[in-house]
Amino acid sequence: MTNLPRIPLAGVIGSPIAHSKSPQLHRHWLETNGIPGYYIPMDVAPDDLERVLRTLPTMGFVGVNVTIPHKEAVMQIADLVTDRAILIGAANTLIFRKDGKIHADNTDGYGFLENLRNGAPDWNPKSGPAAVLGAGGAARAVIASLLDAGVPEILLSNRTRVRADKLKQDFGSRLHVFDWVQAGNMIDDAALLVNTTSLGMIGKGELRVPLDGLSPRTVVTDLVYAPLKTQLLATAEEIGCPTVDGLGMLLHQAVPAFERWFGTRPVVDRATRAAALR
Ligand code: NAP
Repeated sequence: MTNLPRIPLAGVIGSPIAHSKSPQLHRHWLETNGIPGYYIPMDVAPDDLERVLRTLPTMGFVGVNVTIPHKEAVMQIADLVTDRAILIGAANTLIFRKDGKIHADNTDGYGFLENLRNGAPDWNPKSGPAAVLGAGGAARAVIASLLDAGVPEILLSNRTRVRADKLKQDFGSRLHVFDWVQAGNMIDDAALLVNTTSLGMIGKGELRVPLDGLSPRTVVTDLVYAPLKTQLLATAEEIGCPTVDGLGMLLHQAVPAFERWFGTRPVVDRATRAAALR
């Protein structure tokens, strides 16, 4: 036995996990804040998830990030789940509490809004409707955060209509669903346009929603960050719209987790972006 404090450990659990940018991001913050901790990527199969999560706290882990395919499953294992994670239906952050309980939260919506507020400081949530493309897991976090911020209406379109209808059921009357073929029509009066589909990402197809009606006053943001400047953002820039890329969401969603685990609130700056892109 020694009196030396235990080295705090954190990490990210998923499968596959090699592509994750979280390790270089958290390691950058550990280093720049002089914290003697470690952040480790862990490839965990679904069958091993619960056993791994119960074991990690006994090894000095203070928490983990959770990514595909475990974001929903961890909600069943956690002892406490925040209201926003329940509303979104997924968790991306676990905190291993000193009393042995596992606390699950979702910080994607927080990260999305912080990125938007930093990248487009003149955007006012109350200034008009937000048009959202896509109705997957990320869309749920985006919609929850936009409604919470006071956006008056959300115009939503998804290739698979029933998925968008389900979101309307869950989030209520401020949501209006459009068929995918009509997605171009809903952006004309939008104050904000958000792509939450995986279209535009390297290796996926291009987003083919017509942008002829897009006003230069509309703020346009894309959750896709590989490439950083998607075709959607490039076209929006040509039209004169303020644009915000998706990398900042990834960085900002990590801030509350790092603070809870390591006791220091990290800053998101140019060096953080560079570290994540390394
Ligand atoms: P998801 O749950 O799998 O949802 C994927 C979405 O993309 C669905 O709306 C899906 O429509 C749509 N889509 C996929 N292929 C399509 C196609 N060929 N045509 C039309 N629509 C298509 O994934 P997710 O977790 O929501 O993530 C979505 C994107 O956001 C990914 O690129 C992810 O990397 C990114 N993301 C970024 C951040 C960040 O921090 N920047 C955070 C979370 C996610 P259907 O319902 O019709 O299949």
